Amino acid sequence: MATNTAFDNNGRYPGAVTAEDLRRNIDEVRGKIEAACRRSSRDPLSVRLLPVSKTIDEERIRLCYAVGCRQFGENKVQEAYNKWQGMSDLTDIEWSVIGHLQTNKARQVAKFAGEFQALDSERVAAELDRRLQAEGRSIDVFVQVNTSGEESKYGLSPSDVRSFVKTLPAFTSLKVRGLMTLALFSDDYVRVRACFTLLRSLRDQLRDISDECVELSMGMSGDYEIAVEEGATVVRVGQAIFGARALPDSHYWPTR
Ligand SMILES: *Cc1c(COP(=O)(O)O)cnc(C)c1O
Repeated sequence: MATNTAFDNNGRYPGAVTAEDLRRNIDEVRGKIEAACRRSSRDPLSVRLLPVSKTIDEERIRLCYAVGCRQFGENKVQEAYNKWQGMSDLTDIEWSVIGHLQTNKARQVAKFAGEFQALDSERVAAELDRRLQAEGRSIDVFVQVNTSGEESKYGLSPSDVRSFVKTLPAFTSLKVRGLMTLALFSDDYVRVRACFTLLRSLRDQLRDISDECVELSMGMSGDYEIAVEEGATVVRVGQAIFGARALPDSHYWPTR
């Protein structure tokens, strides 16, 4: 039986130390994205692969840059900020913050992030917008939705998404691009898929109120092929590119 890799990381993902390793892993992920697109009659160019570089040191991120990556996802603000500073010589990198944000970190995010994918409260929206205006910047945002119903997950409940998206035009430095979710961590692929179809249907229901909230950021190393079949336009992939992380996933998604 297929197992969800979130439960079985060790040994599953080949490590990547050299530029060649990274190129091989990226090519393999892209190949699987293309195959999932063929199965679902989609254009592979409609799916963006966002490499997730949390816990990966600068040296290896630079190798990834050398093989063509220009955008990196990070789930902790301080770690991302340090990497942005350390790699400021690479002026065309865009940093995407994909993890929960506390309002006291909004000032840092406003300085360096090109994208924020975990927007889930008006409080954070207001603070981020205020800080961005002070910086004279704007960023793309995704609204995070809790599609699995798990208590521990961040994100808006599905029934709150529509009214939340309606408030966003007031925050003029936030350019809303779409919805984001983390699926259930389970080896039950039927329930994992249900998280993705829920996000897609929520997005479809926003058509009459927003021309911009159209993207779907969903799918990670363990489930991105399913996510692409269900319409993902952004997949956030770490371990399948960089190799298995040593620590369990609970370390990176602290329960609230
Ligand atoms: C770490 C992380 C990912 C990527 O997970 P992998 O198992 O490394 O592919 C995706 N999304 C978020 C929000 C993450 O924190």
